[in-house]
Amino acid sequence: MLAHKEIQKGALLRKEGGFRRRCFFSWVLSVLLFPALLFLVSCQSPWNLEGARAGDWSAQLYLFPRAGSIREFYCRWEKGSVVNFSISGPPRSKSFVRGAIKAWGDLELGIYFNETSKFEAMIQVNVSEGPIMNAQGPGSGRTIADCYLDEEDSWKGELRFARVDLALNTPKDVRGNTRKLTDEEFTGSAFHELGHALGYQGHSVRRGAAIVRDRFVSKLLGRRVLATQKISAPGVKELYRLPAGRVKRTLRTQQWRTGVIDKMLEIADRSGLKGPFVQVGDKGGRVFWRSEDAREYGVRIPQVGDLMRNPNKLLLIPEKQTRILLNN
Ligand SMILES: [Zn+2]
Repeated sequence: MLAHKEIQKGALLRKEGGFRRRCFFSWVLSVLLFPALLFLVSCQSPWNLEGARAGDWSAQLYLFPRAGSIREFYCRWEKGSVVNFSISGPPRSKSFVRGAIKAWGDLELGIYFNETSKFEAMIQVNVSEGPIMNAQGPGSGRTIADCYLDEEDSWKGELRFARVDLALNTPKDVRGNTRKLTDEEFTGSAFHELGHALGYQGHSVRRGAAIVRDRFVSKLLGRRVLATQKISAPGVKELYRLPAGRVKRTLRTQQWRTGVIDKMLEIADRSGLKGPFVQVGDKGGRVFWRSEDAREYGVRIPQVGDLMRNPNKLLLIPEKQTRILLNN
């Protein structure tokens, strides 16, 4: 009986010894590996838009399907340009929007802002009671930024116009209640939407990003703008560091899939339509042309988020006016 207990104790001690050895080895390994991991984490730039993987929602790039291919590219305002903006809405809200614009100006992106009348504005900001319908349903803001593609310059993209809609109230909650946004919330919302107006589409999921779909972050940014504290917006900064009209990649798709746009390009050439312009959001994209009398001929691109993973899923849906034009 005693001998049996001794054997058991010996086995336990051996087990414990094994544990200690294993523990020691893992300690040595972690000491050796930890600096390596730290190096990896600190040296991998989290803000390399160029390196963004397909399906990385850090930014939704602009897309242009044409001649059996889809081009994925960055679009922003031309560096050195003066971007005229206008604000319409209650006087108090205007001062918050001006604050948000100043915060973007302080980021030194290489563009300059100048307040003008709505007629001359390149960025039109409209403040209303809300709610404002966007891709996610009723919300407190929406931005559409038109990227012009210059055929003469190998289809280089450049922002030409943006419309920002801001609401003063929250959308209705499940009980149907709505409330006025606080000054911080409204300013944060203005700063966020103006980020889209500068060319950063989609929403980041990265830590430290400014353009995220998170009310708390937005409010925090609003607080910083109101306190005229410096803000970092690494995604937008990176966008303005890239060369103008940078193409990330061009993927092949079946030739017939781009047929609608190919035909529209011919028609636009013949009839002197201005464009093409491209718009993009979280869910969909749009390519359109504009006539002398400001009529728009658009082609919708649904499911833009998945498209660069499955270019053969490209679907182009002409809008009503465009269908009429295509059938003539
Ligand atoms: Zn947004």
